[in-house]
Amino acid sequence: MPITDAHMHVGDFPTFGVRLDEDRLAPYLAENGIDAAMVFHQDNAMVRRVIQDIPGAYGLYWANPKLGDPVPELREYLEDPKFRGVKLHPLMDGFHPDDPMVWPIIEVLIEHDLPALIHCGHPIFSLPWSIEELIARYEDAKIILGHMGHGNVIYIDASIGVAQRHPNVWLETSGMPMSVKILEAVQKVGADRVMYGSDGPWHEPRVEQLKVQLAGLSPEDLDAVMHGTAQRLFLGV
Ligand SMILES: [Zn+2]
Repeated sequence: MPITDAHMHVGDFPTFGVRLDEDRLAPYLAENGIDAAMVFHQDNAMVRRVIQDIPGAYGLYWANPKLGDPVPELREYLEDPKFRGVKLHPLMDGFHPDDPMVWPIIEVLIEHDLPALIHCGHPIFSLPWSIEELIARYEDAKIILGHMGHGNVIYIDASIGVAQRHPNVWLETSGMPMSVKILEAVQKVGADRVMYGSDGPWHEPRVEQLKVQLAGLSPEDLDAVMHGTAQRLFLGV
């Protein structure tokens, strides 16, 4: 069964003791049975260099509005067909997801019909209710709740609730430990709005895959969550 991984990092994260060296990305995808992956790091130029020659590797532009207006550079990156959207990390970069600084980024994505993957699951800046403020403001934007609430069942349930209230929301499974919540998400919003991600190398892709495979989904829904939904959203296929 083909696998598309909606959430993968490359490069060094020395603060956290986590790394996937640039030259390890291609073997890492192969070792983990991953056919396509959305890859990102704060160093967008490095990501562009790394993914260029790896079939199946795509980039999400890491936009940090705290560092100044990212829109000119974002537009430039989105001209490269290897870049398929934006990663926002309100927790790590320290901004409210509905801060006016974020709005121009979302407007560019609407123009390109590409999604934003937003880290979701930790106070103070990345809780689902805060991201919902942005989602409600931009009903034409495509927003992925990365980690779908992460490790806290209150935030997980709230993330599913946000997706139920807003048809422009997708849920991504990385780092969220409860297989039963993947099944619940598919039942409540449909397999066409739930997608597998690993958050590798922070999490082991094969563990993250097994978590989805054990959720009790029908074969068709499992295929959508592991592959089809992300293919359609990021690549339009
Ligand atoms: Zn991540």
